[in-house]
Amino acid sequence: MSTEKVKKEIEKLTKDLNYHSWRYYVLDDPEISDAEYDELFKKLEKLEKEFPQLKRSDSPTQKVGGVVLEGFEKVTHSIPMLSLANAANEEEAHEFDARVKRFLDIKKDIEYIAEAKIDGLAIELVYEEGKLHIGSTRGDGEVGENITENIKTIKSIPLGLMGNNPPSIIEVRGEAFMHLKDFDQLNKKRAQASEPIFANSRNAAAGSLRQLDTKLTAQRPLSLFCYGVGRLEGKKLNTHFETLEYLKKLGFKTNPLSKKCKNIEEVISFYKGILKKRDDLPYEIDGIVIKVNDLHLQEELGTISRRPRWAVALKFEARQSTTVIEDIQVQVGRTGALTPVAYLKPVNIGGVVVKRASLHNQDEIDKKDIHIGDTVFVERAGDVIPYVVKVIPGKRSKNSKKFKIPSTCPVCGAHAYREEEEAVVRCSGVGCPAKLKEAVSHFVSRNALNIDGFGEKNVDHFIDAGLIQSFSDIYKIKKADLLKLERWGEKSASNLIEAIEKSKKQTLDRFLYALGIRFVGEHTAKILVQHFGSLEKMMKASYEELLEIYEVGPKVAQSVSEFFKEKKNRDEVLKLLKIGFQFLSLKKTSSHLQGTIFVLTGTLNSLSRGEAKKLLEACGARVSGSVSKMTDFVVVGALPGSNYDKAKELGVAVLSEEEFLKKVKK
Ligand SMILES: [Zn+2]
Repeated sequence: MSTEKVKKEIEKLTKDLNYHSWRYYVLDDPEISDAEYDELFKKLEKLEKEFPQLKRSDSPTQKVGGVVLEGFEKVTHSIPMLSLANAANEEEAHEFDARVKRFLDIKKDIEYIAEAKIDGLAIELVYEEGKLHIGSTRGDGEVGENITENIKTIKSIPLGLMGNNPPSIIEVRGEAFMHLKDFDQLNKKRAQASEPIFANSRNAAAGSLRQLDTKLTAQRPLSLFCYGVGRLEGKKLNTHFETLEYLKKLGFKTNPLSKKCKNIEEVISFYKGILKKRDDLPYEIDGIVIKVNDLHLQEELGTISRRPRWAVALKFEARQSTTVIEDIQVQVGRTGALTPVAYLKPVNIGGVVVKRASLHNQDEIDKKDIHIGDTVFVERAGDVIPYVVKVIPGKRSKNSKKFKIPSTCPVCGAHAYREEEEAVVRCSGVGCPAKLKEAVSHFVSRNALNIDGFGEKNVDHFIDAGLIQSFSDIYKIKKADLLKLERWGEKSASNLIEAIEKSKKQTLDRFLYALGIRFVGEHTAKILVQHFGSLEKMMKASYEELLEIYEVGPKVAQSVSEFFKEKKNRDEVLKLLKIGFQFLSLKKTSSHLQGTIFVLTGTLNSLSRGEAKKLLEACGARVSGSVSKMTDFVVVGALPGSNYDKAKELGVAVLSEEEFLKKVKK
């Protein structure tokens, strides 16, 4: 392809991708599938790699981040980002309206735009000749921080403006925020990794935008609603409504919760409507903003003590309050995670009586130094469970008590343990009622014991009816039991009993996989069975012994040893074994290369590296990533890497592809 052609191709791909990204992130109305998008994206990425000099400044490949900054430079806003005066209630909104009329000496109604006020972080985007030039935080209104590289990763922000004739300069202002669902998920992940929890979605958004490693920002799902314009050159606008429409045309997302209102009464009824919706919105809002629609009137009104006279924030009641932690109790989730929950002295926060708050894990409790009996600051948003923001230390009573997460599961009594490198404490019990439904569904699933006709609904049904309290109970179900249940007839009952009976003929690895031991997937189950040969032996294995097995890491070793350490689990497994399982031996594989270690380097002709690896493993060999003195053979394909040199250096036997195939087929 000629350079000119490549350039055209890159331009087309960039434009197409930006268009589809706009359809997806701004309009929520995609025209192509994710897979099609990914395909175009990869195409562009490839071309840009080959021709880096042709990469465009509005290329969507920048959305994944990757720039690591040393710090944030200061940016002076050409027009200050003013803060708004507040109105606390309807009465004060009416006063605002009266002030505007008085100042303008107008008797008739003033037209306003009312918009939901997003509780996020105000930012400014400067576009020059249609291209994103600088993105910055509001800072103190005069001077903010340059976060251009971070801002580029926000999917709904265009790197280049849409339309054929962009203004020569436009400064777009908006609120960056995180959806509540994403905020809650992010915190759950952080709690698991024992990282500090964000108190609210605003902090999460601010923290994410101020990451020096922009890859991290790219991983945080941030959004932006644009609500205004600072400097604008090359375009004349007359009303705020026009401004919002213009922003949409340029490819920005504006808040759909905004309305042109004939007068202040209409604004108030808009306010009431939004207030009713507040708890159902996917993001946090803390009120509405009322703006005079006519930009000429705005200019006439001007500012007073650094606040515009033409706008006011009509705030909702803050959804924060102080209350007392009366108790801390532990909940056991479906995966067996023990989560401490604060039971609060009931407190009305923004119209909802709050009685509980999540404390996430022991680390979080320790970090915030939370005691039972403490007075705490609680924040609530949407339908996310309220958060304890902090303890009010001055109010700690003498009777306050430290909390320690229990070492046994409060539901089933099995021992609980903390996972390697994680903050989560988990119940080890196989029959724990808290996780029984999930566990049984897994036990009977296709890749486990594959009991036909045992769908998820039936699992729930049987457990609710008290038929199943542990795995072994499945094998005690009688036809008569099923016939007593609704919707079970002679035929379906017989079929299920037969399927249950059939599941007793099993390979041992499937049986092990069915037990649902954490981190023991199908592959790991095979490895463990191959190593131990029997469950009895596996049960006695220590953490250290497990760790010695090839391909078994500390996480698997810990969860397997914790599982079998629990007497309840050993008893349940023995009970199951007594039912009369017949374990079929694993598919016979040849083992003439048992114990040998191979390293693959370079490209093989007739098979992929993955296939070669499988082939070797089927013969009992192991495949390692790098050559050492332990290596028996190095298979060398085309364009071998440093492993080849290392093999020569250490005198390890080298095989060509042909020799390798011969050896395997023997
Ligand atoms: Zn339990």
